[in-house]
Amino acid sequence: MSVGERELLRLAKRCMRCGFCRAECPLFRLTLSDGSTARGKLQSVLAMLRGEIGRSSRAMMRAFECTTCGACSAMCPAGVRMEEFLEQARRSFLQELELPVHEWMVEATLSTGNPFAAEFEASVLAGEVAFFPGCTSHFRAKEIERSCISLLKRSVRRLSVLRFCCGAPLMTFGGDAGGFVERNLSKLEGIEVVVCHCPTCTKVLRERYRVHAVHISQALLEFGGAEPLRNSLRAAYHDPCHLARGCGVVEEPRELLSTAGVELVELEHSGRATRCCGAGGGLPVSFPELSAELARRRLAAAKARAEVLLTFCPTCYLHLSGAAGESLRVVDASVLLAGGVHEVR
Ligand code: SF4
Ligand code: SF4
Repeated sequence: MSVGERELLRLAKRCMRCGFCRAECPLFRLTLSDGSTARGKLQSVLAMLRGEIGRSSRAMMRAFECTTCGACSAMCPAGVRMEEFLEQARRSFLQELELPVHEWMVEATLSTGNPFAAEFEASVLAGEVAFFPGCTSHFRAKEIERSCISLLKRSVRRLSVLRFCCGAPLMTFGGDAGGFVERNLSKLEGIEVVVCHCPTCTKVLRERYRVHAVHISQALLEFGGAEPLRNSLRAAYHDPCHLARGCGVVEEPRELLSTAGVELVELEHSGRATRCCGAGGGLPVSFPELSAELARRRLAAAKARAEVLLTFCPTCYLHLSGAAGESLRVVDASVLLAGGVHEVR
């Protein structure tokens, strides 16, 4: 057994099989299969490593059938951290599975520095406060990057902008992020506060790089910069899992948006009890139908209460806006606050 698999075994053994993790698992609610839950994944990996069941691709794929939403870990009395387990499991199993897109993402990230295999614009080193756009905003939702920079520049005179990938795609798709993170550490020298828009980047920078990383909603509250909207707006707010549960940022987006004049409507599953939109954990790549169904359900919940859905995450924004129909408009809060959205009712 490899070192990685011994580690997997150690992590899986923590599970007491109580099943508390089923309660809020969004995938269990879709599939009604225990294999989709944290317990199911842990037990099937445990049985496989102990030789009780065959080393089948079905059992190994369980590690990829997850949004990494963290709802299970929040409920777990044994302290199982599903994300830690899944990162290790995906790294152990990727080579044995036929997942060309996952392999491509890992290879692209290692060889070009990001999962889009594209070139980042140059970083700007100006002061001790830095904005970190991350890959998704930079390459797929540039208006978010522009909006965040414009908002921060209203109050931070010398703003640095650090453009590189934090390594999250490696953790998500089965690569080894250790050396990648290590090589990036020098890029943060001299920076005291890193402001992220992407909740996953915020979490990774805090946990892996051990730097003072804050979400843009926290930074704007502290530094100022968000002004009242010109038009009144009633909107629902979708808490990104990695922001609310992963970073504990729940009140700041609400306070910021309310102060700007947004009348916020709470969804049934909100705050730390938020429900994943289906975009997390690489699910759109690994299990696109499950991912799309989670988006449909989240959008239906929002449509029942409002005509506009706000979020504060590039991945949630892209996933939800791509799946939303005519009757619901999905808007990223940073773009709204920067004045980039004029016709929102
Ligand atoms: S809640 Fe934790 S200990 Fe209980 S079954 Fe789920 S993962 Fe195992
Ligand atoms: S992280 Fe979310 S989707 Fe994955 S097993 Fe836990 S509750 Fe289910």
